[in-house]
Amino acid sequence: MAEKFMNYIDGRWCPADSGEWFENRNPADWDEIVGLFPKSGKSDVDRAVKAAHDAYKEWRLVPAPERGAMLKKAGDIMVERKDELAKNMTREMGKVLAETLGDVQEGIDTFYYAAVEGRRLFSHTAPSELRDKMNLSFRMPIGVAGLITPWNFPMAIPCWKTLPALVCGNTVVFKPASDTPLTATTMVEILLDAGIPPGVINIVHGGGGAVGTSIVDHPDISLISFTGSSLVGKEINSRAGAQLKRISLELGGKNAQIVMDDGDLELALEGVLWGAFGTTGQRCTATSRLILHEAIHDRFVDMLLKAVDNLRVGNGLDTSNNVGPVVNQGQVETVHGYVEIGKSEGADMICGGRQLTDGDHAKGWFYAPTVFTGVTQEMRIFQEEIFGPVLSVVKVKDFDEAVTVHNDCIYGLSSSIYTRNVNHAMRAVRDLEAGITYINGPTIGAECHMPFGGVKQTGNGHREGGWPVYEFYSEIKTVYIDYSGKLQRAQIDNY
Ligand code: NDP
Repeated sequence: MAEKFMNYIDGRWCPADSGEWFENRNPADWDEIVGLFPKSGKSDVDRAVKAAHDAYKEWRLVPAPERGAMLKKAGDIMVERKDELAKNMTREMGKVLAETLGDVQEGIDTFYYAAVEGRRLFSHTAPSELRDKMNLSFRMPIGVAGLITPWNFPMAIPCWKTLPALVCGNTVVFKPASDTPLTATTMVEILLDAGIPPGVINIVHGGGGAVGTSIVDHPDISLISFTGSSLVGKEINSRAGAQLKRISLELGGKNAQIVMDDGDLELALEGVLWGAFGTTGQRCTATSRLILHEAIHDRFVDMLLKAVDNLRVGNGLDTSNNVGPVVNQGQVETVHGYVEIGKSEGADMICGGRQLTDGDHAKGWFYAPTVFTGVTQEMRIFQEEIFGPVLSVVKVKDFDEAVTVHNDCIYGLSSSIYTRNVNHAMRAVRDLEAGITYINGPTIGAECHMPFGGVKQTGNGHREGGWPVYEFYSEIKTVYIDYSGKLQRAQIDNY
C-alpha cells in the first residue's frame, strides 16, 4: 500500500473532507506510486482560508527580521535534505537528478534571499512641503495569499511565492500541481520544522477545478499568485479580477535562441541542447525556436543533429541519462499532436517524432528529442507553446530579420543571442521583446535574486524573484507626522 500524505490546515496534518485520495505516479516507471494525496475540495479550502485569516492577526505583528530568521533556519534544513528532496522530485516529475538538485538549490537560495529581505523591505521617505512635518512610507502585509503552482519546478516556484509572501507578513493557502504534491508537502514540512506557526502556512492538495477555483474565488483571499498555462491564467484573471484581488500571473513562453554568423557555434550548440531538451523541454523558458543566420544554418543543423543523436533519454535517477520522461500521458499526447501538426504544415522533421517504448522506456512517458527545420512564421509549431522536447528551426538572412522573427510571437519570456558583434548584442538587449535576454547563453538559467517574468501574454507585468516580488506581496502605507502643533494645510498654507 502506497504511503498517504496529508493536507496541512490550521496547524494539523489532515485528510480531505471527501475522504478520497489521488495517486502520484512516477512518469519514468508507472508501476511506482510515489504517494497518495488528499483529493480536496471547497470545504477544505474554506477551513484553510479561515485558519490563515485568523493566523494573520498575529503573524502580521511578528517583526520582519524575526520572520526572516525562521526562513534562514528553513534554508539550513533544506540544505541537509537536498539529496533526498532531489531524488523524490525526480521520482514524481521525471527531470534528471542534476536538474532536480538545481531546483532544490534554487529553493535554498530563495530561502536565504528572503531571510535577508526580512531586514530590508525598504520603502521611501521624502521631505514634506511644510515645516515641522515628516513624510514616510512603509511596506505593510496584505492578508491571505492564495498560491497556485505548476509541476515543472516543484520546489523553486513554490518557494518563489511562499517565502516573500511570508516575510512580508501575509499568511498562505497553497495549492501545488497535482503532478508534484510530494515536493510541495516537504517544503511545508521544512517551514514548520523551522518554526512557522500554525495557520500561517496551509497546503491543500487536489485538482485545479475544485481546489484552485475555490482559492481564486474565496473572498477572504486578498491576493493570488499563479504560475501555469495562459489558458488557466486568463480564467483566474477574470475570476479574481471581478473581486479586485491583486493578481500575479506567470504564464506561457515560446522562447527563441538566435545564432548569428559570427557566433561561437560550439557554445551555441551546448546552449541550445540545454535550453531545448533540459527538463525535457518542459520549462516556461525552454528554447522552443532556434533562429539561425543563413550563412551558418546548414553547418549548425548538422552539428545539432549529431548532438541530439547522442542524447540519452531515460530515467532521471540514472545519472548517465540527459533527458528524462515527459510528465504524464496527457503531455505526451500534446507533444505528439504538435509533431503531427508540424509535419502536416510542411516542416521537415529531421529527428525524433515518436514516443519511446522499448526496453527501459517501456513503463514511462518517454519522447524522442525532435527537431524540425524549414519552419516558417505562420506555422503553429512556430507560434504555440508545445512544452516538450520539440525544437523548431527558422532560417534568416540577417540580424534585423532575426529580431523580426523573434518578436512575431504572442509570448515574451526569455530570449538569447549568440554573437561576437557587440553592436548586435546591444541591439538585441534593446529590441528583443522578452522579459529576459541572455547574451551568449541559453534561454534558461534564472537566478533567484533577479526579477523573473515576461512581457506580452507571458504574464500581467509582475515579476517573481528579486526585489520586485516583495512589492507584489506588500502594500504601501503612507504616513504624515505633523509636529508643528497647529493645523497645516498642504497646497494651501504654503502657497
Ligand atoms: P496549468 O495551468 O494546467 O496548471 C497550473 C496550476 O493551476 C496547477 O496547480 C493546476 O492544478 C492549477 N489549475 C488548473 N486549472 C485551474 C483552474 N481552473 N483554476 C485554478 N487553478 C487551476 O499548467 P501546468 O501545470 O500544466 O504547467 C505548465 C504551464 O505553466 C506552461 O504553460 C508553462 O509555460 C507555464 N509555466 C510558466 C512559468 C513562468 O514563470 N512564466 C514557469 C513554469 C511554468 P492541477 O495540477 O491540479 O491541474
